[in-house]
Amino acid sequence: MDQKQAQEIAARALADDRVAELYQQINEQSNVEIRASTDSQWGSSTDANGTSVFVAPTDYPVESMFHELLHAKIKLQGYTQNLEFVRTVDDTSAKVLGEALDNELQHHRMFPLFIDAGFDPERFYHDADKNSYSRIRKELKSMKPRENSATAYFMKFLTILAPGGTGGEKERKQLENFFRAKVPKAKLKRIDEAAKELVLWRESSATDPGPTIKKIMEELGGMDGWWIGRSKNFPDEGHFIGEPFTLLDAKLFP
Ligand SMILES: [Zn+2]
Repeated sequence: MDQKQAQEIAARALADDRVAELYQQINEQSNVEIRASTDSQWGSSTDANGTSVFVAPTDYPVESMFHELLHAKIKLQGYTQNLEFVRTVDDTSAKVLGEALDNELQHHRMFPLFIDAGFDPERFYHDADKNSYSRIRKELKSMKPRENSATAYFMKFLTILAPGGTGGEKERKQLENFFRAKVPKAKLKRIDEAAKELVLWRESSATDPGPTIKKIMEELGGMDGWWIGRSKNFPDEGHFIGEPFTLLDAKLFP
């Protein structure tokens, strides 16, 4: 898709008063630029330079644009991304989980605002995601209960816990039951403890999810030797998972 098509989709979204109002609100604080997505997914970023919204083809331009503007809104209200990673271990799971959590923790806070604006909860995610429940079920079937970690399973559980989406509550419950039947008890216990942190986060008004991310990773286990930061200022502006270490310890894994 090219820039012209992206602008056309954005214009269709902005014809909705709710989108136009939120767009204006964001744009006053953080200059919004519309860009063509390089894949099939919508996305956005908000930093000191402004906000970019990456537009992809969709049947729901209004909801998709509102969703991305909500990401910008909560960041402008203080939500702190924790996307700096330092590691002493030859493994990438904490980075993969950390990036997924950054997105999901925002979604849990954004969802009530999406509903309050009068949108359909089933359209909270971009329509490419409409088969997510059947995809997760298939992935769970191919996983190996002994070998796959609690974290690998928790990554799937995040989709089951995610607010809104096309599944509906009955389907969500069915998928959760399938998940519980599939995952070994000891791992399930860790996953449930980690999921409690997600609920606490949703109900709190904290803006830095760093402590929540640390607790989730320590509950799940297997991620000691990582540092997750809200800036590159190691170690002051971040959290160690497990015991502290120095940059010298991390020098093998730049
Ligand atoms: Zn999102």
